[in-house]
Parts: sequence; structure tokens; C-alpha cells
Amino acid sequence: MFKRILVANRGEIALRIFRACRELGVETVAIFSEADRGAAYLELADEAYCVGLPKAADSYLKIDRVISAAEIGNVQAIHPGYGFLAENAHFAEICRSCEIEFIGPSHEAMALVGDKNAARRLAKEVNVPTVPGSEGLVEDEAQAVSLAHELGFPVLIKASAGGGGRGMRVALNDLALKAAIQQAQAEAEAAFGNADIYLEKYVEHPRHIEVQIIADNHGGAVHLFERDCTMQRRHQKLVEESPAPRLDAETRQEMCDAAVRLIRAANYTNAGTVEFIVDPSGSFYFIELNARIQVEHPVTELVTGIDLIKAQLLVAAGEKLPFTQDDIRQSGASIECRINAEDPDKNFRPTPGTITRLRVPGGFGVRFDSHVHEGYVVSPYYDSMIGKLLVHQPTRREAIACMKRALSELHVEGVKTTIPMHQKILDHAAFHESRVDTTFIERTWPS
Ligand code: ADP
Repeated sequence: MFKRILVANRGEIALRIFRACRELGVETVAIFSEADRGAAYLELADEAYCVGLPKAADSYLKIDRVISAAEIGNVQAIHPGYGFLAENAHFAEICRSCEIEFIGPSHEAMALVGDKNAARRLAKEVNVPTVPGSEGLVEDEAQAVSLAHELGFPVLIKASAGGGGRGMRVALNDLALKAAIQQAQAEAEAAFGNADIYLEKYVEHPRHIEVQIIADNHGGAVHLFERDCTMQRRHQKLVEESPAPRLDAETRQEMCDAAVRLIRAANYTNAGTVEFIVDPSGSFYFIELNARIQVEHPVTELVTGIDLIKAQLLVAAGEKLPFTQDDIRQSGASIECRINAEDPDKNFRPTPGTITRLRVPGGFGVRFDSHVHEGYVVSPYYDSMIGKLLVHQPTRREAIACMKRALSELHVEGVKTTIPMHQKILDHAAFHESRVDTTFIERTWPS
């Protein structure tokens, strides 16, 4: 195992990694921007270095400074967390060329799956169902229009380098398609420096179900079952759970097997997530492979009892996975609510500011992964998530009751949060019956 690693991230995920490392006896080096200077969670690292100004582009995304901190801190490996440099194949390559292990897949595998169009092609090769759409990239408007007519509207334009819902546009007709192509290309060029786009049939009323996987460097590759992340706003997840409700055993098995087939074909190692959308008839389609640990990974930890961060460290250190597929069981039901500093009444606009009062829930089956405290200043520079509230109970019904109780205990003053939105979701009959799709929130509460 490593003696010392650097965590190239901030907030709750940095803290999550410090904690796993402490238990493994691995020392941690933190990095922080001027905006995070003095943050309490940094005290739980062994050392911390400032890497620049508040804007992520001037600190957390500055590869040369992150590498300098790693060299000064004398670490053997870097854990990138999620976001920032986590899916930057160039960064992974630089780490390894500096003889610092990158805790994630090889840069080759990352580059392959990070190109969504290439990942789609690979999925087809190994019989993993993909959404009907363009064979490769869309070259021009005329080709897109004729393909859209073949597929039937609505269609979805996606950026090959896309992520976080950026560079993605739905089009209902020819005119809208032409405009959407230009918008998606411009957005993708600005966000990713790559204007490549492709086209997919827009699956109506889908559910989002993803499979957690992990693989080692010795041929071991397993899945840790699925998470249902259907409850989204603006294509961003708000509530996640496992097992996925209303997923029959056969489909679950097929999806999990498909996920393992795909990561094997991609020579993918370390933790990742294979995302699918499921149409109302129950057919599932691969949409992308996320080459990182995800925000919602604790949902899987709770139902499987496996610490995914520790498993990532083991794999990166060259060890074999400490479990086989047969050892992994899905037990009970887990739900996660993302607590964001956002105003649900104002279209989830971020609400940076100072947390003046905080009461954290606890009790049986409750986990709160968060770096915030009373007096913490939620910065406008970063993601608005201030914590993840999780529950684990024997059944989904009990998990819902436990989450409602935990949400009623969680009290945040000073900034508006998504807590009231979660309470409305948890009270809704459609959520109880799991008769929801990815547009549920927007349709149910249009304002
Ligand atoms: P990103 O990487 O930008 O997050 P994804 O490809 O993961 O993009 O898609 C994000 C979300 O968009 C999915 O969870 C799903 O809700 C929706 N989505 C993606 N592809 C389709 C599709 N073909 N039809 C309908 N919804 C889709």
C-alpha cells in the first residue's frame, strides 16, 4: 500500500478520501485554493499546500501546481476525486510520467471511454445495447436532418467530449435541430475544446440506472450492482438509490453483465460507472462510462458493505481485488439525497453564503458525508453541494421513512438548500411507487 498520497480535490470528497486513508494508515497531502484556505476539513489531512486563486482554473485545475504539490509533499500517488482533473487523461498520463500513480484507470482507457462516441462503438462491438443514433460523428446539418428523419423526432445532440449535461440538446423538428447542432457545437467547443457531436434518439420517459464496477490489474473485474439516479433536475442527479425499484432480476443481471463486458473490452481498471437509460418497456441502453469515483458511490457502499475508496487505493497500489463477484451481495435499501446550497424555487440557482446554523442528523442507518459546519462559507466558485445525506435500511419503505426523519432533523440556516425539494419528493406518491422518469421534477414542479 502507498505510504502517502495527494488528494487533488476539495470539500466532501477530499474529506471522504482522507478518512479512508487514515483507516488504511496512508498519509494524506491536501491541496487548497485561496477560497478554501483555513477550511476545517483540511485539518484532517497530514499536510496541505495552497495551489492558487479561488477560480478552479487558477488552482485545482492547474496541473503543474498540483504536480509540484505532489513532489514537495513526496507522495506516491494522487487521488483525483470527482470533477476537476478526475477524467483528464492528459493529467493521468503526466502523473505516471512523473512516477506518481494516478488512482484511476490508465490514461489510454480513460481517453477511450471519455470519447463518448468511441465508447458507444466499443459497446456495440461487445453487444451492449446503445441508443439508436448516428454510426459515428455527425459531419454536417444535412446528414443530421436525414438521420433524424430515419430515427424519428425527438432526437438528442450530444457532445463526444461531453459531461455534466453540457453540449447536449433535444430537438423536436428540422428547424430546431439545425439550431441545436450549432448550439451544442459552440457549447462543446467552449467547455471541452472539442466540437465533435453525435446524434441519438431521445428516449422518452426514461429512467437512469447505472452499474458500479471495479477492476484490478490482474484480470479481476466485478460489478457492485446498480443505482437508480432517475430523480434529476436539468440532467443532474438529485436523489440516488440502490437497488433500483421495479427492476426485475433478469434485467438487473443483464445490465450488470453488460457493464463488466464493456470494462473488460476497454481494458478498464479501477472504479467506474457504466450508465444506462431504461425506457418504459424495460429495454436498457448504454449512454456512457464515467471513469472516476462518483458522487453517489456511498449508496453502493451501504448496500454492499464495500468501501470503494479503499478498494480504489488497493487496486492502484497493484493489489488484487480483495473480493470476487460471488462475495458481493446487495443487502437492504439505500437512498442518497444531495444537499445543495441552491434555491429550488428559483430554478435551483446556487445560493452561496455563510451557514449560520447547522444541525446534522444521526441515528440508526444514517450517514452524512459533508465538509461543512456552522460558520462555513459556501463559495460561489465551486459546486453547490454541501453534503450527501444517506440512509440504509432493510427495505425501501423503511429507507424512505428513515430519510424523511433524517431530513426533518437536518437543519441549515444562512443559505437556501434543496432540503424542502427532497421533502416534497419523499412525500410524493409517484416516488413511493417509483413511477417516475428523468423529467419528473421539472414536470411536477414546473416553476
Ligand atoms: P453527461 O455526461 O453530460 O451527464 P449523459 O450522456 O450521461 O450526459 O446524459 C445525462 C442525462 O441525460 C441522463 O441521465 C439522461 O437523463 C439524459 N439522457 C442521456 N441520453 C439520453 C437519451 N438518448 N434519451 C433521453 N435522455 C437521455
